[in-house]
Amino acid sequence: MAQLNTQLVHGDPSARTDATGAVNPPIYNSSTYSFTSVDAMPRWDYARSGNPTRDFLEAQIAQLEHGTRGFAFASGLAAIHAVLSIFKPGDRIVVGSNIYGGTYSLFNEHFQRWGLLSTPVDTQDGDALARAIHGDTRDVPSARAVYVETLTNPLLQVNDIAQIARIAHASGAIVIVDNTFVTPLLQQPLDLGADIVIHSATKYLAGHSDVIAGLAVVRDEDLAARVYYAQNRLGGVLPPAECDAVRRGIQTLALRLERQQENALAVARWLDANPYVRDVHYPGLHGEAVAGKGLRGSGGVLSFEVDPVLDPADILDNLHVFRLAVSLGAVESLAELPARMTHFELPREERLKVGITDGLVRLSIGIEDVRDLIDDLESAFGLAVHHAHTLSFALAGE
Ligand SMILES: *Cc1c(COP(=O)(O)O)cnc(C)c1O
Repeated sequence: MAQLNTQLVHGDPSARTDATGAVNPPIYNSSTYSFTSVDAMPRWDYARSGNPTRDFLEAQIAQLEHGTRGFAFASGLAAIHAVLSIFKPGDRIVVGSNIYGGTYSLFNEHFQRWGLLSTPVDTQDGDALARAIHGDTRDVPSARAVYVETLTNPLLQVNDIAQIARIAHASGAIVIVDNTFVTPLLQQPLDLGADIVIHSATKYLAGHSDVIAGLAVVRDEDLAARVYYAQNRLGGVLPPAECDAVRRGIQTLALRLERQQENALAVARWLDANPYVRDVHYPGLHGEAVAGKGLRGSGGVLSFEVDPVLDPADILDNLHVFRLAVSLGAVESLAELPARMTHFELPREERLKVGITDGLVRLSIGIEDVRDLIDDLESAFGLAVHHAHTLSFALAGE
């Protein structure tokens, strides 16, 4: 079988169905497919159930994640919705405590109403995880699944998928991993024991901030049948043109990620040496965080805490190369202030508990020249420091 970079460019050759010789698999713009006769069921009959453009992308992600079958959805959250729909009311899922906000609300609002129970746990703590899965024999049923993200958000702690899978499987629970932050290039969770992998393909896989998409890959045929049912019956499928946009994004994933990681490490080091920065959260900064946990790299997202003498908004508002925006994983660098831009609905105490301090900044590093990124940060910090001094002189003069 081809190596990873070749797979990124060419996908799975057996999923090619077009006979024209077109180098790119065509976008099949058809909602329905004709039968040759009443009883001759065609391979494709109706595009929600499947179509060649989507099949190509689904085969590609299944190949990259070393799974049995892949599924493409209209968004990352549609993928998560479909995967969680394979469970039934009364089932319980243990959920990592620092997960994507939309997923958190899907568990705690939508699925709670639906009767799916969830228990948050610090997945860095193996004993706590084992206890949470086990439940208690009287009231709390043993968990059916563990749901985690490869890197916690926004503190970027590394979850040890192999260890989590060992603990979960010992109690008969399956493991679902949201691999969005690292992609199959840095880790293939199914190889480490996970059962289902999910991506917001909106981020690194598509990679250009121009498409919303989700993917799921399963380990075995039984899970494939259940996820396929949810995909086809809930119907949150990815349209052919978007399938093609994700396919094209995946072709350059390795090149982009390599540059993003190089740039992220340089930015993390620059921040680490900055006297106005307290903690820098980037797994690769001190090397040891990724080693031994199955990761081949640290990705392109990092976060850091600004010294409370500065207003972090003074830094973010003065960035010009970094765009002030949520989301991550694209060619352009983005900056955001979680406490005021994405997590302001959480009560402050709740935010602080999950590590989202008032001065925590998250950066998604792109593929620009790293000198421009660092210059941009340097001048923004300079203006913020100047502003803080002006303020303290004004206060002293009062
Ligand atoms: C963005 C994101 C999602 C949600 O994906 P959408 O494509 O926005 O629906 C889920 N998980 C993680 C880790 C994400 O970053």
